[in-house]
Formats: sequence, structure tokens, C-alpha cells
Amino acid sequence: MQIINPASEEVIAEVTEDTQETVKEKYELVRAGQAAWAARTVEERLACIGKFYAALEEEKKVLAETLTSESGKPLQQSYNELNGARGRIKFFLDNTARWLAEEWIVTEGATREKIVYEPLGIIANISAWNYPYLVGVNVFIPALLGGNGVLYKPSEYATLTGLHIQRLLYKSGVPEEVFAVVVGKGTAGEWLLQLPLDGYFFTGSYRTGRFIAERVAGKMVPCQLELGGKDPLYVMDDVSNIEAVAAAALEGVVYNNGQSCCAVERIYVQEGVYDAFVLSYTEQARRLVVGDPMEGTTEVGPLTRSGQLEFLLGQIDDAVAKGAKVLFGGHRVDRRGYFIEPAVLVDVDHRMKLMTEESFGPVVGIQRVKDDAEAVALMGDTEYGLTAAVYSKSFERAEQVMRQLNTGTVYWNCCDRVSAALPWSGRKHSGLGMTLSYQGIRAFVQPKAYHIRP
Ligand code: NAD
Repeated sequence: MQIINPASEEVIAEVTEDTQETVKEKYELVRAGQAAWAARTVEERLACIGKFYAALEEEKKVLAETLTSESGKPLQQSYNELNGARGRIKFFLDNTARWLAEEWIVTEGATREKIVYEPLGIIANISAWNYPYLVGVNVFIPALLGGNGVLYKPSEYATLTGLHIQRLLYKSGVPEEVFAVVVGKGTAGEWLLQLPLDGYFFTGSYRTGRFIAERVAGKMVPCQLELGGKDPLYVMDDVSNIEAVAAAALEGVVYNNGQSCCAVERIYVQEGVYDAFVLSYTEQARRLVVGDPMEGTTEVGPLTRSGQLEFLLGQIDDAVAKGAKVLFGGHRVDRRGYFIEPAVLVDVDHRMKLMTEESFGPVVGIQRVKDDAEAVALMGDTEYGLTAAVYSKSFERAEQVMRQLNTGTVYWNCCDRVSAALPWSGRKHSGLGMTLSYQGIRAFVQPKAYHIRP
């Protein structure tokens, strides 16, 4: 399988893809080794992950450069991702022992009762390319700490990163019989669905997530899905610093070249501040530095996948054909690589794909709204339910809106962020189940109820 640098369109590496046979061999290896891993104490497993945490810091230069070369993520953002991943690992290092400890519920009387948390067994971690460290760490770290074996299938657009992760886990003391990378495309993922695994943890598109959920339904094992979004941001007319709000929204749109599951994908602005917001947003978008992601000054690099260029240009054409106006950008950049100019569109509405279909790129439509009721209706008019942001001076007014939104996460005066301490979950077509927080530790174990009569 060829690994292509999206900034240069050059082949930077060739890797050997797994076959159905080698995937099965990896499964058998992990099936044989998992029990010994589960028999170790949590402290022993924590010690291995502690070494992995340190290794990510020690090797951050090569890891960040590899990530940028295969995904097009601006180099500084690759460093940020590694730092963010370490922050999440630290959360798991600090909290796992507490949440996996056995719990005594009844300690007196004729029948004593306790809960013991046992690993699920062997899980598949089928992952996305946009934040391979962050979305990977959400799954394989708590899975390993919980005593599970993991078959980790990195996206075909983040394979080199997946192989680094495997190398560093082995170096940190995680046995080869416990963690294995499956190299390949969608077909390799499908082979995992055919194996008798004990859990499926998927991060990716709704389309693939639904396919996986349907395929594994009959196995009666946990199936968690972290899927896409069409996340709205609403600016109320009482905000005091419109430039700062526009800057935050712009970052939410273009960070990671617009390829974040919780990226700001549509903006609603109340009438009173609409013109000022659009002016400031567009001026700031014009100043973005688009270029070689290896350069420290670059703010927006290429899209990761070539096909995404046509997809975004199609969304823009569809919007323009239905009456939208492009205020800035939206063309392919005249250079090698999958570059698109960040785009700002106005006069948009929900007949347009740009406002309803996940874009996954640095493009956005800004729509004028009359009041909170109209904003709530438009924000909720989506098949997705990942995050939603509200900017306002008043928490009470913002909360009134946030309460009415059917999303796993809501933000007041911030956007496009994830906290290790809070559950990360999507509603509707944005997913099923959750990672992070204590709930994301417990997601990788199953309770056993003990009834004890001494
Ligand atoms: P994708 O669905 O194309 O691929 C995800 C993974 O599934 C890859 O490893 C791929 O090889 C594998 N796969 C593809 N077809 C398969 C099949 N038939 N059977 C089994 N596995 C298969 O998604 P992507 O392009 O890698 O990721 C982008 C999507 O992920 C976006 O929609 C984004 O919003 C979403 N995402 C969500 C979160 C979240 O936390 N909610 C985080 C990151 C990305």
C-alpha cells in the first residue's frame, strides 16, 4: 500500500498490507496472550502505559513530522495533537485504578454484594485518520489498561502513525500478544468484523459506522461508534467582542484543515451583529496562511484525501446554484497537493448541502437568524448530534438554548474542544456509546455481580 503525502502528492512510503490470513494470525496471537495481560495487576499495566506516555514526548519530533507528512496537518498542530494525546493518557493514568477497582455494595448481613470489573476480551479499534493519536488513545489506552487485547486498525491515511504507536507500545512493555496493528484499507476492517471479537470500537463516518453496527449486531458484543457531525455555532446579538468571536469561530472551522469531527460546520448569527461578524470573519479568513504544512507559519495545509477536494467544490457549487454568495475563497489552490482556499459563504439556507451534509474541510456558510427560537430550530435541523456552540454574554440565555439541543456536547463561548474528564459522545447519527471520562474507562470492562454468603 502506498502512502502519499497530500501536500506534494508524492509517494513517501510503501507498506505491506495485511491479508485475511495474517489478520487471523494476529487475532489468534492476541487471543492466546490476553489472559496473561488481564492477570497482571492494574499497576503493572499502568507502568507500561506510563512509559508510552514518556515515549511520545521523547520521540515527538519524528512522530509529529510523520503525522504531518501523511495527513497534511500543519506541523504545529501535529505537536499539539501529541501534547493533547499525552494529556488524555495522563487522565487515564491518574484515574483508571479508581474506576476499575472492585466495589463493595453490601458489606454486612447474610449476603454480601460486590461488583468486579472484568475486561471485555479482545476488541477491535477501527480508527480514523484526522486525529490518529487522539481518537486512538481514547480507545486503546483504556482498553489496554482494562486488561483487553487490542487489534488496532489505523486508517489507511494514518498507517505510518499507527505503526509508530505499535512500536512505542512494544518498547513500553505492552506484549506483542496483546496489541497488534492491522494494516490496510476498508477490507482489512471488514475482516475484523468476521472474527469472533468481544467488542468493536469504531471512529469514522456514519456510513461505515452503520455498516459495522449492522454487521456485528448478531454477535451481541459492545459496539461503540464515534461518527461525524455538522456542528453549529450560534452568535447572539449581546456578544461584546465580535472580532474575538469571529476569530474563535474561524479557528473552529479551519483547525486541522477543517477536518475535525467537532469542527464548526455552520454558523448562525443574530441580525444585530450579523454584518459586523461576517466582515470580521471574512477579513480574518483572508489573512490565513495556506501552504506547506511542514512550515511553522502555515495555518491551513492540504486536505488529506484527494477526493475531498471535488466533494467540497461540489458543495460550494450546489450552494451557489441555490443562491449563496461566496465572499472569499473556495477554489483549488494553484499548486501541487490537495489544497483548497478556506471559503466563506453567505445567503445560505438548509436547502443547500453545505448546511446539512458534513463538509470536513475549511469551508463554512454563515446564516442570519432573527432570534433564539429560529437559531434553535436551525441548529437542530440535522441528522447529526455531536456538538453545538453558543456565544453570548449571558450564560442564562445561552443555557436556555443549549438545553434544547440534542447533542452530546454543548459549549458556551468556546467551540471545537474535547476534555479527557468529560464523556465524548454523539447523538443521532453522530454515534453510540462514549469514550473519555470515567465512563470511557468503564466502557472497556464489564461488571460481574458477586452475591456472597459467608
Ligand atoms: P471512514 O469511515 O472512511 O473510515 C474509518 C475507518 O474505517 C478506517 O480505518 C477505514 O479503513 C475503516 N473502514 C472503511 N470501510 C470499512 C468497512 N467496510 N468495514 C470496516 N472498516 C472499514 O472515516 P474517516 O474518513 O477515516 O474519518 C472521517 C470521519 O470520522 C468523519 O465523518 C469524522 O467526523 C469522523 N470522526 C468522528 C470522531 C468522533 O469522535 N466522533 C473523531 C474523528 C473522526
